[in-house]
Amino acid sequence: MKQPDVDRLKELLNTADKIVIIPHKNPDGDAIGSTLGLYYFLSLIGKESKVMVPNDFPKFLKWIPGAKDILIYEYQTDYCKNLIAAADVIFTLDFNDFSRTGEVCKDLENTKAKFVMIDHHQQPSDYAEITYSDTSMSSTCEMVYTLVDAFGLAEKITPEMATCLYTGILTDTGSFKYRSTTSKTHRAIAQLIDQGAQGTLISQQIYDNNSPSRLKLLGIALNNLVIMPEYRTAFITMSQAELDTHNYAKGDTEGFVNYGLTLEGIIFAVIFIENKEEGIIKISFRSVGDFSVNKFARNHFNGGGHDNAAGGRSELSLEQTVEKFKALLPEYKTDLLA
Ligand code: 5GP
Ligand code: MN
Repeated sequence: MKQPDVDRLKELLNTADKIVIIPHKNPDGDAIGSTLGLYYFLSLIGKESKVMVPNDFPKFLKWIPGAKDILIYEYQTDYCKNLIAAADVIFTLDFNDFSRTGEVCKDLENTKAKFVMIDHHQQPSDYAEITYSDTSMSSTCEMVYTLVDAFGLAEKITPEMATCLYTGILTDTGSFKYRSTTSKTHRAIAQLIDQGAQGTLISQQIYDNNSPSRLKLLGIALNNLVIMPEYRTAFITMSQAELDTHNYAKGDTEGFVNYGLTLEGIIFAVIFIENKEEGIIKISFRSVGDFSVNKFARNHFNGGGHDNAAGGRSELSLEQTVEKFKALLPEYKTDLLA
């Protein structure tokens, strides 16, 4: 974070009493970790704040320190609306545009609160008083760590804050594997461990808590895997009926998309997940190397994200969505085989 932004943030916080922190809809490890990490940081500097998520988050994140106090807009709508309307400052974390908050979008557009954006996605919208946007960062958690460090408080990080920030860095880097993982990421992690984050325990809580039905669901997903070596592409479909047969719960399909990339020679992996309730197909895109799934998702599936990890949606049926996807591949053949 640049020094002028640090100074402006200090100034903004001086006069702010009512502070709200919001991540994107369907919050992941980085969204939950960064908002709670920031919450603990603000309390360290004597500022009260409330963390509010647009909708509920998966069980594998419920153990994180502070998770029990998170407000959930979809369940506590009126209370949350009032907080947004009355806020002095709203921190928006791990997203680049109000539309990423779903229903909350309208409340954000109408509040008089000043915004601070902390985010690592491409093409940030211009709504914030202070925009701390850095697409080279592994995670929003690493950005919150950098902010804390810029305040000269890295050595004051509590074990709770360290645990939250470690969690989001862990999940957004695919366990320190993706190319956004830098030496700075590892230095942040080292400091977080020194401040009390327990890496082994955190990894266990995130990754080793499968239910038997989730593993069965993974079996179905892998059975549905379609490999298209001619495009170095692999994709998975999950229909609502398939999800229903294994008591699908939020978060159960997290990470399934990555299995495609474990195939030798495959650089583009996709999962299409039917959501009958919302009437959409939710799509996750992943790539390795220079093929930008952010562009692909933006251009064709009303989404976006990062170069190597993006999401999108389709209002066609599952079958039609897959047909549309397959029909697009010839156009990208040169890029995929580059
Ligand atoms: P996931 O596939 O895990 O849902 O998302 C991968 C990445 O893309 C995340 O960084 C997420 O924030 C972003 N993303 C997911 N869905 C969307 C979307 O519909 N629009 C945009 N702009 N980004 C998305
Ligand atoms: Mn993130």
